[in-house]
Amino acid sequence: MTHALLELHGVSRAYRTAAGEVVVLKDVSLLIDAGEFIAIIGPSGSGKSTLMNILGCLDRPTQGSYCVDGAATEQMSPDELARLRREHFGFIFQRYNLMENLSATENVALPAIYAGVDASTRTARARVLLETLGLGERTGNRPSQLSGGQQQRVSIARALMNGGAIVLADEPTGALDHASGQQVMAELKRLHAQGHTVILVTHDASVAAHAARVIEIADGRVVADSGAGGRAAVQARSAPKRGQSSRAERRARLDGVREVAHMAVRSMLAHRLRTLLTMLGIIIGVAAVVTVVALGKGAQAQVESQINELGASTLEIFPGTDFGDPRSAEIETLVVADADHLAALSYVDSVSPSLSGSVAALQGSRRANTQVMGVGADLPRVRGLRLKAGRFFTDAEVDAHRAVGVVDQKAAAALFSGSPIGSTVLLGGMPVEVIGVVGASAFAGGATPTVYVPYTSASSRLLGSQRLESIIVRVRDNVSTTAAEASLAAELQLRHGRRDFFIYNADQIRKAVMKSSQTMAALVSAIAAVALIVGGVGVMNIMLVSVKERVREIGVRLAVGARQGDILRQFLIEAVLICLFGGVLGVLLAFSAGALSSLLSLGVPFLFTAEPVLAALACSSAIGLGFGYFPARSAAQLDPIQALAAE
Ligand code: ADP
Ligand code: MG
Repeated sequence: MTHALLELHGVSRAYRTAAGEVVVLKDVSLLIDAGEFIAIIGPSGSGKSTLMNILGCLDRPTQGSYCVDGAATEQMSPDELARLRREHFGFIFQRYNLMENLSATENVALPAIYAGVDASTRTARARVLLETLGLGERTGNRPSQLSGGQQQRVSIARALMNGGAIVLADEPTGALDHASGQQVMAELKRLHAQGHTVILVTHDASVAAHAARVIEIADGRVVADSGAGGRAAVQARSAPKRGQSSRAERRARLDGVREVAHMAVRSMLAHRLRTLLTMLGIIIGVAAVVTVVALGKGAQAQVESQINELGASTLEIFPGTDFGDPRSAEIETLVVADADHLAALSYVDSVSPSLSGSVAALQGSRRANTQVMGVGADLPRVRGLRLKAGRFFTDAEVDAHRAVGVVDQKAAAALFSGSPIGSTVLLGGMPVEVIGVVGASAFAGGATPTVYVPYTSASSRLLGSQRLESIIVRVRDNVSTTAAEASLAAELQLRHGRRDFFIYNADQIRKAVMKSSQTMAALVSAIAAVALIVGGVGVMNIMLVSVKERVREIGVRLAVGARQGDILRQFLIEAVLICLFGGVLGVLLAFSAGALSSLLSLGVPFLFTAEPVLAALACSSAIGLGFGYFPARSAAQLDPIQALAAE
């Protein structure tokens, strides 16, 4: 069965308006063969453009059927129609419809992006086309740097980019002076001579005279048709390889992404202030999150290093059930033998028994109330105490109940004017030789002047009690304090036959600090999340405005064969780029806050790590995707005709 290239059968097009249904095309039937040169003429408002748009698959009939190369278009999806536009048609508009921010070459190459032609091939072909149209010198010009006639020739080149077997020109000379109009007509005749099917709309009889076949329309009906004056079908020169394979499709998509990213950056730079304001919410949100996380991490690291200094993995065993247990004073089972037993365990680093009392100290004419701590020789190791002068007492001195003592700096200051080493203090009447000075420890004393003496001496000669107040255990560094705690508890329970003790784990402090910093981080993250959402809404707003501003551009893209997905992707990429840029600026802002703080040595502990930065960037991209989707979808679903008609 043979068929004409384009077949219209009983085509009508009606518009629904407020005043009711308006039928602008009425029962039009036409057969158009390949290689014809047709002029459609008629008065303004007669339906020429409507017919043209239907022929070009930009619009659909409300009644009747339209076949392109034997394929019925009625049931086709928007993307299938886009494929027809890409592969068969080239549009030339009265108002050129070039994109202002693209060069002549880029404008011409645009349809090839959607056809999946690679960048170098498309640029080369665009240059060749521009050269044949006498624009070899103007390839880099923007449309505003070209005359009307030149712009129309650029748009002819664009129509030919994908092959343009059928060239549709709606009043191509309508906006041009006579000479430029002649030039454009000469080009169209040349195309016809090369085998292209050319259909042009005009209301100018002298323009129509160039055509072999003239179809006259009045009030939506074909009133005259000079008849098929076409020759035997001549196939138009084939286009460069079209993107049919999936590889070409993928490359087209990738290429499209690159082109879109390029365009997005350009339009962002063109509207710098607006872009910055759009990004502000994202910038603030990201900067807040990154700063707060860095502060939290810094504070945590500070506290941890302090805890580590105190003896990172220290457990202290007390008699009773908890602090404040009234019966703990009667429990006599926690003894030195327990400490010796624990010291032999493999996961225990060092152990010190501990008992204490408040004792008046006398040195010469000075006196002070001190806390006397009876401890073992290993205490500095257990507690992480640092010697400032002299030495700590030895195991031998402990075993011998020697009356030697080590003072902390508070006690040294309260009782001595010079170096205390070698002096003797009276502790509750017992003379004790001072052999060393230690730094203050946040654990032991700190507020009260403290004197450390062997626990043997303390219990037998000073405090008169064998009962230990506690056993301090430092576990090995690579051992979990929680596991050690459980094991120590089991060990002691076995020895005592019951659980008459409790264990205080310094790790609890660390956990408490972590917990409070986590609470703080959660709180600020919630605030930042609100800022990000507000920022996202801002981005959505701007994207909606951007879609509105660029409806015509979208129309042109659709006309040259962009799929809905291409448009969707374009606006999504723009939204993501805006948000990602905002995120990067936010991260930089946080970094500079950290740098400023360390520059002014404010002592604020910033600790930047990769995860929150990456998370913030991922989050802002996701916001771009989320909040950009609605505007992008509204752009993708635009009707090509309405988009092209937009001002
Ligand atoms: P021509 O190109 O011949 O000047 P058109 O095809 O553009 O005419 O329009 C034909 C008629 O259809 C005109 O009367 C116009 O007002 C009407 N028309 C075009 N587009 C619409 C629309 N979207 N809604 C309602 N009426 C429309
Ligand atoms: Mg018109």
